Amino acid sequence: PSWIRVKSLEKVYRPARSAPTHALSDIDLNVRRGEFVSVVGPSGCGKTTLLKILAGLIKRTSGEVSIAGRQVDRPIPEVGMVFQAATLLPWRSILDNVMVPAEIQKLDKKKARKRADELLEMVGLGEFQDKYPAELSGGMQQRAGICRALVHDPAVILMDEPFGALDAMTREYMNLELLRIWKENAATIVLVTHSIPEAVFLSDRVVVMSPRPGRIAEILDIDLPRP
Ligand code: ADP
Ligand code: ADP
Repeated sequence: PSWIRVKSLEKVYRPARSAPTHALSDIDLNVRRGEFVSVVGPSGCGKTTLLKILAGLIKRTSGEVSIAGRQVDRPIPEVGMVFQAATLLPWRSILDNVMVPAEIQKLDKKKARKRADELLEMVGLGEFQDKYPAELSGGMQQRAGICRALVHDPAVILMDEPFGALDAMTREYMNLELLRIWKENAATIVLVTHSIPEAVFLSDRVVVMSPRPGRIAEILDIDLPRP
């Protein structure tokens, strides 16, 4: 059975002062539990829109979207999300930002703290835990946002170009860490990336989209051994 189900999804943006944009049309996608799916395609083909609808952040125009049998109308706590711009809370330290999902889900504080430490160490922010977002660069804030999305070991991880701002080395580490999390937690992952090699390296299937309006052009099965 599908863990993430998208059926006949359509999205039309209707801005108040400009013409409507048909961002997504006829999207059918079923993701199995524990599957790792990447989404690639040219700028403007609706990748971000699709992910935001899966995350419950924006409304669909028509069609059906469900995760684990529940219709998605608002963000759900079992989902970890990373978007292009990190949205850290300015009045909380980096560590306290990373701990937010663990607090919301009332996880064991000590365990979550240990996981936060590990993740922050891995992305090179170990010494910046007690700083505030404004004291860090944009790339560092983005890395903190990735730690925040993973701290509660979510069952579903949605990522929109999460590693774009990272240097090549950190990006490689994050890819391997993502695979580790995916394996250990049997997480279901949907990743939007501009990098086709990254998509092929990481995923079970690659969804290729085409623009005007955004549609699924093809879905490629990847059958390569992973590290
Ligand atoms: P990407 O890097 O995925 O190609 P864009 O740079 O096209 O993303 O857009 C970044 C964000 O800006 C999008 O997620 C979308 O919410 C918003 N955006 C894009 N185009 C428009 C638009 N025409 N009007 C309002 N917001 C837009
Ligand atoms: P991608 O992530 O593949 O670059 P997006 O999902 O950001 O694509 O955008 C798909 C289309 O929808 C684009 O034509 C973009 O300009 C438009 N769009 C995105 N967000 C908005 C918005 N908030 N308002 C109006 N148009 C938007």
